[in-house]
Amino acid sequence: MLEIKVNPDIRLAEQKEIIGHNRWHPDIPAIATVRPGEEIYVEALDFLDCQIANNDDVSDIVNIDLTRAHPLSGPFHIVGAEPGDLLVVDLLDIGPITPFGFTGIFAKENGGGFLTDYFPNADKAIWDFHGIYTTSRHVPGVRFAGLQHPGQIGTAPSMEMLHKWNAREAPLVAKGRATAPFADTAFLGSLKGADFDRVAAEACRTVPPRENGGNTDIKNITRGSRIYFPVYVDGANFSGGDLHFSQGDGEIAFCGAIEMKGFMKLGFDIIKGGVAKYKITNPIFVPGPMDVRFEKWLMFEGICVEDGIQYDMDATVAYRRACMNCIDYLTTQGFTGEQAYMLLTACPMEGRIGGIVDIPNCACTVALPLDIFDKSILPK
Ligand code: ZN
Repeated sequence: MLEIKVNPDIRLAEQKEIIGHNRWHPDIPAIATVRPGEEIYVEALDFLDCQIANNDDVSDIVNIDLTRAHPLSGPFHIVGAEPGDLLVVDLLDIGPITPFGFTGIFAKENGGGFLTDYFPNADKAIWDFHGIYTTSRHVPGVRFAGLQHPGQIGTAPSMEMLHKWNAREAPLVAKGRATAPFADTAFLGSLKGADFDRVAAEACRTVPPRENGGNTDIKNITRGSRIYFPVYVDGANFSGGDLHFSQGDGEIAFCGAIEMKGFMKLGFDIIKGGVAKYKITNPIFVPGPMDVRFEKWLMFEGICVEDGIQYDMDATVAYRRACMNCIDYLTTQGFTGEQAYMLLTACPMEGRIGGIVDIPNCACTVALPLDIFDKSILPK
């Protein structure tokens, strides 16, 4: 079996072997060739490229260089995959390769998160792994099993698609609401010289999810899941990383899961012409049979009214209100606001849309599993 290993203490650019990249571009050379039916073992660094230490000091989060995200392992060239095919990826297994992970709150001036207006200062929680369970000295009073998943997996874009991404995101880049290509910290596998300069100048950052999958942060793509990716280049050039020990729906803190250095076992197959046949625009997937189970939940509602302002069917505002209602409640149960924020982003909470038709208010919910708490947090 092909094995791609990392040194978990060393950033991507200084690994002994070339094992990955941190941008999307069709010309990033594959690190290995895999045949359909073959299974591989792949390790990956955490999404911040080894910048976070297991200590109680938040200065590493404060001084973070986000342009080094995400160190992905790959690309893998899948023999026989051609544009228009579906690449079938079986996530056969996933887990950590170090005994701890981290969750952070980025400072507002450094990108913030979903609730940055309420939590503008940097913070950090280290999570210790005990088999499938995790606890944190920074968020005492909880213990839960993790639903492990890759935050980011996908296929390489074609050149045409890459140009489309850059063009449509440019107006948002100008407003500070999207990330432009950034050559200084690009790591492009084995590319060197003029090829490196050309690709680094136009390769897309890995921050948003796009048509190739990418940074979707879907907690249900866990052990045993089968994902169907559109193929845009010969060989598909599949990559993955940003592995999570656990995450709540929305990854609201942005440094938002329990970020881990980990491994995946993967299998591959190809469905010829599957993109047109099944009208695929974005990846589709079948969640795996392994789940975390909770008996009881406490659910919080949110509507799209914030600071006295009536929004028009805005699910983002409604979801933010549901999150804040949950966090405010947890502060009555012995948690600080920051602890509650980091718990909500890291534990397997379920986010849902209730109604998205009843003008003018959309309703969203956040469901917190009660079983994760040491004591009852219900109203008495
Ligand atoms: Zn992540």
